[in-house]
This record gives sequence, C-alpha cells and structure tokens, in this order.
Amino acid sequence: MSQIAAPVEMMNALVLYGLGDMRHTRVPRPAVAPGQVLIHVKFCGVCGSDIPRVFSKGTYRFPTICGHEFAGIIEKTAPDVKEFATGDRVAVFPLLWCGKCAACEQGRYVQCANYDYFGSRRDGGFAQYVAVPIHNLLRVPAEVSLEEAAMIEPAAVALHALKQAGRILVGRPVAIYGAGSIGLMVAQWARVMGAAPILLFDIVEQKLALARQMGFVHAYSSRREDSTPDIDSLTAGAGVDVAVDAAGSPAALLQAMASVRRNGCVVLLGNPAGDLHLPAALWSQLMRREVTLAGVWNSEYSIAGNSDDWHATLAAMADGRINLRTLITHRVPLEQAPAAFQMMRDNLEFHTKVLIQP
Ligand SMILES: [Zn+2]
Ligand SMILES: [Zn+2]
Repeated sequence: MSQIAAPVEMMNALVLYGLGDMRHTRVPRPAVAPGQVLIHVKFCGVCGSDIPRVFSKGTYRFPTICGHEFAGIIEKTAPDVKEFATGDRVAVFPLLWCGKCAACEQGRYVQCANYDYFGSRRDGGFAQYVAVPIHNLLRVPAEVSLEEAAMIEPAAVALHALKQAGRILVGRPVAIYGAGSIGLMVAQWARVMGAAPILLFDIVEQKLALARQMGFVHAYSSRREDSTPDIDSLTAGAGVDVAVDAAGSPAALLQAMASVRRNGCVVLLGNPAGDLHLPAALWSQLMRREVTLAGVWNSEYSIAGNSDDWHATLAAMADGRINLRTLITHRVPLEQAPAAFQMMRDNLEFHTKVLIQP
C-alpha cells in the first residue's frame, strides 16, 4: 500500500553547514506541532554572538539555521491554538525551557538546566518560517514596528543588566564601557531609570557620535589617557555607582572596575574576548571599596508577563521611553546575508544593529 504524501512546502533559509559555510538555500518549512504557530519572519537581528557562532565557535550541530532575535506575522496556527490567529504580529522569546528542573519550577527559565534555543540548538530566524510554541510569543502592539520588535531580546538583556546592579539609579552616575548596540540600549534604560550623568566610553569614534546623536552628551573615547579624569570630574572624584562592561574586552572591564565608587557595582555584560590580567592595585581597590561584581545571563521572561524584562521592554517601546530605530544601520535581504556576516566579521563598514529580512 502506498500512501499519498502531501507535497512538502519549501522556504528560503540561511543554512550554516559548517564553520564559515553559510548558504542561502531552499529547505522544507517546519511542521507545526500542537500548541505552536508558524511565524513568517519579517526581521531577525544579527546578535554579536552570531559572528563567532558562524565563523569560529560553531553551533551544537550542523546544519543549523541561526538567528534568535526575530519577530514576524503568524502564518498559521495548530488546530488547538485559540489564543493567537493568522495575521497576529508577534515577537519570540527564543529559549525553550524544560518545565521540570528547579529553575523552571521557580519560573527562572533562562537558568533552565535542560533548555533548547532557537538559532543555536535548533533552527532559528534566518529563514522565512519558524514554528514556535505559543508560550514563547509576545503580541506586538500597533505602536511597535516589527523591526523594533526583533530587538526585544537584546533590549531585555540590557534592562536585565541594570537590574542586576540591584539599586535605585535616580540621580546617580552610571558608566557604560562599549557604545555598540547593547551598550546604547543599556544607556537608554539608564536614562529611563533616571541615572545622571550617564557616561559612555568606546574606542570607535562613530559609535560615540551615534551616542551623542541619541542625546548622550557624556560620550568619550576610551583610547585617550584622560578617560579617568572624566569620571573624576563628573562624579566629584568619587566614581560611579554602577559601571557596565558592555564590550567584553579585558581593557574595558578593567576600566569599568577602576571607575566604581565605594559600594559600587560592576556589571559583567559583554561576552569575554580574552583572559583578564587583574593588577594587584586594582584588585585591592575593589576590596577596599567593597565593590560588587554582578553577572548577567540573558533576561527574565514570564508567560503571563508579570514584571519580566521582555514585557517591560515591549511596553517601553510602545510608549517611546526607549527608541531602538536609531541603532539600525543595516537592513539586509536574506540572500545577501552571507556577505553581511563577512562585513561584520571583518568590520568593513560601520555597523551597530544589522537586521536580516527573510
Ligand atoms: Zn542576541
Ligand atoms: Zn528547566
């Protein structure tokens, strides 16, 4: 007996077959399981972590479709899905939690001991379609564009980073080392929280110019020797309450550590680019000042949306407290994405946020 198989529907996708081997090709559309919807991806951001993922570190298996920062329109829903309908605009929390471990029991999904992840452990958003469980969906209000909605993930991480400092920032000085897209998102949240002054440091002059254009007047080159006097003069020599390393470079982290005041907090946000040599004098200063080091991993998400980073970010986008459109330097069609990845890796053009349009 032969069965009549339904014709397989195909889609365009950016498939990573091996390190540096990324091709624009046709693959089958994902099947939609119960409790899931099929999303037509409109924008998928390239994360800083995607560049090493594609060119040096790899993914958990090959081939993989990368991309974890995506938003789009629901193409179809599984028959049992009642909460969402075709045509709904949605953003996606890319982590699939197990629901059984100790962290999941407390609703701390990002600490799940046995998680899956769109765009690294399983196929993600550099494709026309992705099937996503409804518990990972956020409804995008009309005031928020889908390109901004594709940036909820990094913006939620930026919010989470400042929350990890665990203090009220109204009227308090904050320093951010690294004025790339994530650093400028942290700066926007610091402004929402009332921090002042907000000091930004980077070695790339164009990033500092963008920061000033966004209203951050205290944007300084950290190449210059006089970056410390800036901190001293703006904080009456005391240092900042919170310093965020949003660069992940050993030099930036050392400067962040050196800039915090007594009982201040250093937030570790950037992915490490190398080993850190901690001079004894600075080590001792961290002790004398009783400085806290706060690690940041992803962001908090809840299905119901009660005070988590994701829904707070979406609300701030909707009422204009944060504006991420200025951060988008490139919008790239899917078929041109391999060239865009090389541009980013080799730093051929100035870029902050690059969005892929499947
Ligand atoms: Zn990301
Ligand atoms: Zn779990």
